[in-house]
Order: sequence, then C-alpha cells, then structure tokens
Amino acid sequence: MITKKYTGHYDIGRNILVIGSVHGNELTPSSAIKMFEDTLLEPLLARCASITTLKWVNTSGIIARTREYSEISTTDMNRMFDKNADDSDDLSDTVSKLKNMIVDADVVIDVHSSPNCYPMVLINVDNYSDSYAQFCVDSNIAYAIRYNENPTIKKYAMEMSGIGITVELNGIESVQYQDAANGAVLIKKIIDHISTYKWAPTQKEPTYPVMFEAKTHLSGIVDYTGHVLGGSIFNGSVVGTVTDINDDRSPIPVTYNGPDGRIILMTEGYISPNEPYILVQPHKAK
Ligand SMILES: [Zn+2]
Repeated sequence: MITKKYTGHYDIGRNILVIGSVHGNELTPSSAIKMFEDTLLEPLLARCASITTLKWVNTSGIIARTREYSEISTTDMNRMFDKNADDSDDLSDTVSKLKNMIVDADVVIDVHSSPNCYPMVLINVDNYSDSYAQFCVDSNIAYAIRYNENPTIKKYAMEMSGIGITVELNGIESVQYQDAANGAVLIKKIIDHISTYKWAPTQKEPTYPVMFEAKTHLSGIVDYTGHVLGGSIFNGSVVGTVTDINDDRSPIPVTYNGPDGRIILMTEGYISPNEPYILVQPHKAK
C-alpha cells in the first residue's frame, strides 16, 4: 500500500481520503488515483485541509491476482469494516490502519472498478440516499443506487466520518489508459465539488427514483455485444444475452423492462439467478 498525504491550504476545509484497489483485481482505481495526484490534485489543495491517497491497498490480492484479500485469510477486504467489531477480532494491520484513517477523515472516497462499467458514484439504498443523489445531481456526476447492506468502507465512513462515497470505474484485471484517465477526472470532480459543498448527509426516508435494474432468472455469462455503455435503452430493448456455462444452449436474449431512455451503467460478467446484472441510472451526467 502506498500512502501519500498532501497538506491543504484551507485549514477549516475538509480532510479527504481517497482509497484505491481494496479488491486485488481492480487495478484501474490506483492507476486513476496516481493520474489524479500527478496532474489534477494541486489546485484542489487551496480548498481542502488535506488530501490523503492510499493506492494498491490490497497488496496480497494484487500479487495473487485475485479480488480477495489473503493477508490473514482469503476473504473480501471490503466486508471487514463492521463498526461493532471488536479490535481484538482478527483484523490485519492493513484493515486496522484503514479504520483509523477513515475515522480521521471527513470525506472518504473508495474507488472500485467493474467489468463494462460506466464511471459513476454508487449509492446505497438507505436513509441517506437522497442527499447523496442530490449531491451527484448538483455536481453533475453520474450515479446509481443499489441495495448493499455489507460492512463496507463506505458504510463505515458514513458511520464514523460523515461522508462515504463509492466510485466505480471501468475495467478489472488490466488497465486501459482511457479508463484510468476518466477515473482521475471523476475523482477530481467529486473533490472539487465536495470541498465546498454545504452538505452533511441528512437522514430521511428515501424518495429518489427507484433504481432500475434488469434481472434474470438465468445464470451464466452476460454479453452486451452491440451495446454502448452509457447509451440509452428503452422498454422492450434486448440488452444482452446470457449463456449458461453449465449448459450448451445458445445465448438467451434478455429484455429490459423498465422506463424508457435509461442509461446502461454497469454489468457483471457472471450472474446468478435473480441477481441484478445491470444498473440503469435515473439521471445522466451531462
Ligand atoms: Zn471492488
């Protein structure tokens, strides 16, 4: 893990923590953070108390070429941030260090990547969803809202620091220049807005437009050949095909049955029955 702290020039501003590659096969995030640091960070220091970056966090996973975290056992590092967990629990030095740094920060931006992903902020369905969605709308940042109850870095940050933001970028297992550059720009945009945004997440019953997800009863490999990420889809559109890897059947088309003109954001390579496999965004960033 590479840690860098940049001291800002605005003492009463926010302390920002940017985290990349908690999942070992997600290399785009740390590449994006590096590009952000080298080319876009400096002017932001005028409006922040500090910006700290953590790159290549899951070192053991990166070396083992897996998503999982193998420093203490093979597991998902982004499920180890339970605020009720005792520190005597089996936490590695890396996770303990991260927890302390998250507590010290005012804003935590945890950067991930997924296959076939449109760069965006991913918001949990909870009583804070509205204020996060509003921040994205005001800042003209693409976002999607989805169910996630896991003890993630974002959740821990929201409980301990105030503001926790998950970013999803495109690409796993390798890095494309354009994806990293898009990520750097998105990170800059978030910090640019959040450094001066008069906002603390406020709790209320969610009223955002329900996220739109296509679901399937099949399991297998999803293929979106012919679709442009970020492109519009319409009610009744065939959004892709699913091929069951345990079966020789031909790819089965899957139809989107949601409101018109929505935007394809993110897919997952392998799906299980009833698992959402495509997120469709209610608001598109211009
Ligand atoms: Zn991830």
